[in-house]
Amino acid sequence: MGRVSSAAASPGAAEAVVDLGHDVYQIDTFMAGYSRITAGYLIRGDRPCLVETGTAPSAPLVREALAGLGVGPADLATVVVTHIHLDHAGGTGDIAGMFPGAEVVVHERGARHLADPTRLMASARNVWGDQLDQLFGTLAPTPAERIRTVDRTGTIDLGGGRRLDSHYAPGHARHHVALIDSVSGDLYVGDAAGIYIPDTGDLRPATPPPEFDLATALESLRTFAALRPARLLFSHYGPVAEVTHILDRADQGAIRGAARRRGRGHGREVRPDQQHRRQRRRNPALSGQRPPGAVTGVR
Ligand SMILES: [Zn+2]
Repeated sequence: MGRVSSAAASPGAAEAVVDLGHDVYQIDTFMAGYSRITAGYLIRGDRPCLVETGTAPSAPLVREALAGLGVGPADLATVVVTHIHLDHAGGTGDIAGMFPGAEVVVHERGARHLADPTRLMASARNVWGDQLDQLFGTLAPTPAERIRTVDRTGTIDLGGGRRLDSHYAPGHARHHVALIDSVSGDLYVGDAAGIYIPDTGDLRPATPPPEFDLATALESLRTFAALRPARLLFSHYGPVAEVTHILDRADQGAIRGAARRRGRGHGREVRPDQQHRRQRRRNPALSGQRPPGAVTGVR
């Protein structure tokens, strides 16, 4: 892995863009200003493809990162989101506006919310209250004619014979897909295998009520194993090469365990403030890394 550029976006942050090989670049989308919590990925090539946009406030940072990688407004061919939760897809409308040639790919159950985010934003407002604006911003609508849906499977043309194949992967959400790269063998798992914390190696559950479903989540992990990926690329956060090991941990620990603890209030959606604290506790080397702007009292 080589460093491509340093982050100017967030004070004290780790590098914003990391070369993962095979023309794949990890982009820190700096959710709410936190580094190493939310990742997008660019697959460069004849038909550049962005996997996950990050939140709406992340969109200018993503545009900057893509520009640094030689992908200008007319160049991006595809934007695909694993699911429409705002830490993954909140920037879709803004990114679609910045890259007018890009097709937006999403599972068919998520498409209408990207075209008309009114209901999605209202339910997010219900959950997050006043903190919604700081944590996630506002998902802008994507013109319906720019959206292409996938169902159980689907294909994104990356150019030069390279493909990104989508596979329905429900459990975390009913509209979740994972995507495997025909050249690198990378599997983009979104939240379907949990939240990987690169600085500690921890795997945390991502089992938000009410949508989380244990049986389908475990079935999705079996789908992943059968695809024999070379790496798992977590949206939270980064690549993991020990595929079998981490899928076993997801099955035995993170997902089943979270399902057992649900009654005790575990298993919510990503909490960047908590993760940041946890990382700092577990890894004192990160203690100098402070979030810009405090997030206080997040439930
Ligand atoms: Zn999610």
